[in-house]
Amino acid sequence: MSKRKIAYIINPHSGIGKKNIIEGEIEHFTNKDEVDYQIIYTEYAGHAHEISASLRDKVDIVVAVGGDGTVNEVGRGLIGSQTALGIIPCGSGNGLARELDIPLRSQHAIEIINESITKQIDVIKIGDSYSLNVAGIGFDAYISHKFAKVKTRGPLQYMNLIAREYPKYKSREYVLDIDSHIFQRKAFFISFANSTQWGNNVHIAPGAMMDDGLIDVCIVSEFPNYAIPTLLVQLLSQNIDANKYDEIIKAKEIDLCNKRAMLGHADGEPIRIPPHAKVSILPLALKVVVPSNDFFESVRFAPAEDIKKFIQQTIPLQNIQDIHNRVINNIQDIPNIVKDNLQDIPNIVRKNIQNTFGLGSNKDDKEEK
Ligand SMILES: [Mg+2]
Repeated sequence: MSKRKIAYIINPHSGIGKKNIIEGEIEHFTNKDEVDYQIIYTEYAGHAHEISASLRDKVDIVVAVGGDGTVNEVGRGLIGSQTALGIIPCGSGNGLARELDIPLRSQHAIEIINESITKQIDVIKIGDSYSLNVAGIGFDAYISHKFAKVKTRGPLQYMNLIAREYPKYKSREYVLDIDSHIFQRKAFFISFANSTQWGNNVHIAPGAMMDDGLIDVCIVSEFPNYAIPTLLVQLLSQNIDANKYDEIIKAKEIDLCNKRAMLGHADGEPIRIPPHAKVSILPLALKVVVPSNDFFESVRFAPAEDIKKFIQQTIPLQNIQDIHNRVINNIQDIPNIVKDNLQDIPNIVRKNIQNTFGLGSNKDDKEEK
């Protein structure tokens, strides 16, 4: 049997700094008996898309190693091809990875790539852009445009930006033709959801399915400030659909009919949308690599079973009373140990400071001897 061909595309700049070690992990955990792999680093924005488009139908899997932006770039290069999108999530949101149950621990993500189980998912087309996860207009799009200009990008900077921009932001009027029904709304934002979540388990469309050929349109109307805590809790607890400021409509096609061009986002990446634009769905247009049904049993639960068996086999029952006694005795000893160590701490700290800054005191050295 010929080996599967897999290309890993690593974005060295996205998300949190895991990239230095990721190449070693790929080398270590790849099943080389069954897989031939190559690693390519991206060098500029849009490069991941160029590479993946050039590899479509030439390799079995192209793996995006990066955040949601990299996943979007790689994925849209593969739409309609036989080549599957794999993900090693290294971003701050990891929306699609979370939705597909791909573990954030890279070792397990690589093991899933080794197994190469795939399924087909829908893709959303918004204007000229593609979204695999969630696209939108309104406040979240506005934030994605601002965030693209921030130099240091992380969850903290993202939350800061939201806190700073929220008081200034005004809800806008939108006209949408959703499957031939006209909706006119003053909305804070409107999301077009393929998956249930933006990322970080913030669920904008709890009932969305990525293989039903439908877009979950989530219209969040202008709301008073006192509604914010409830909205946030509901976003995190997967029941935003119960909020009175939120409408969710399942749709096949949406026409945006607005007076002005709009700021938009596709999977968190800023895009521009003309006043009249279509949002449509490409049913089952993308192959993605997903965990097998028993992956988590073999990875997560087997070690726990092994440990239980090990304990049962190695500790005879009569010793358990011993262990219990030793634990009890040790617990009684703990306050003394803590007390003794606490007295030492000022000395240890002082010595460490002296050593670190080269302030060694002869007096202390003498005392120690
Ligand atoms: Mg759907």
